[in-house]
Amino acid sequence: MDGSNNSEYALGLDLGGTDIKAAIVAEDGTLPKTWKIPTEADRGGKHVVDRLVGLCRTMLDELPPSIRQEQVIGIGIGSPGVFNYETGQLVAGAVNLPGLSGTPLRSVFEESVGLPARVDNDANAFALAEARWGAGEGAQTIVAYTIGTGVGGGVVIGGKVFHGAWGFAGELGHVTVEPEGEYCACGNHGCIEPYSSANGIANCARKLVEEGRESVLSELPLESITCKKVGEAAKNGDRLAISVVERAGYYLAVGIAAAVIVLNPEMVVIGGGGAQLGEMLFEPIRKGLKTRVYHNAVREVPVVGAKLGTDSGMIGAGALVFSEKRGEPRG
Ligand code: ZN
Repeated sequence: MDGSNNSEYALGLDLGGTDIKAAIVAEDGTLPKTWKIPTEADRGGKHVVDRLVGLCRTMLDELPPSIRQEQVIGIGIGSPGVFNYETGQLVAGAVNLPGLSGTPLRSVFEESVGLPARVDNDANAFALAEARWGAGEGAQTIVAYTIGTGVGGGVVIGGKVFHGAWGFAGELGHVTVEPEGEYCACGNHGCIEPYSSANGIANCARKLVEEGRESVLSELPLESITCKKVGEAAKNGDRLAISVVERAGYYLAVGIAAAVIVLNPEMVVIGGGGAQLGEMLFEPIRKGLKTRVYHNAVREVPVVGAKLGTDSGMIGAGALVFSEKRGEPRG
């Protein structure tokens, strides 16, 4: 890092149900310093907001010696939930962060810390980080999926998160891939999420084991069958496990094909815990795209794993600040 620098930095905060991870984010996506504190979500939304604000103040007090406070140009916060991007209000918080819904997060930070703040859905922050400094390496247009408990999604167009008219664009995990299909937590039936999330993969394997299908997984108690266990079994050639992963990839491909046809992205980035399935998951996705997407240029869109790992939330939160700086329009 340039010690005599005039570079700009952002505070990037990644709010999770268990921990708040935070970092000074440099303009090149590196993290000169990081912090981590427990979220204490069970103590309610106001307590969590107080902790976030307190952490921002701590970060400004504890900057590395080479960085002056005036070089910090803003705060970015990535959080689960649905935001109104215009007002910076968390419209619907996540179940593991109770009491946060309705909080005008952006104005709370701007008033309490005195820096411009950007707040966004954590999957959007992930997508932006991967486009700028991760698997996308400067790509202008990508679609990104996080395969975790659910399936998060983000769309980056022109190097910025695309929010749509009211801020809710990019919920890629809730694209319908099986009309009248399995129930999804969002209230719809047949979204990608119940099929291709880590939970969906585990549930599918449990169901098949319960039906008496042959598999090494049947030696485990049902509740111990996780996405990770399915992945391990598939790697060892277990036919049931392989079919479960292929099914997840099949449904992802159906949904990704729709996104690819609409947006013609430079690449599709897949991250989150489920991406650890790697090629076992990516191959059926590529195969599905080949059969579903008619135009050559679109059919060959690269499907790649995310690169930034568990830091991507903090990095993406910082990227929100850089992608909106110098009076560029919001949204
Ligand atoms: Zn859904």
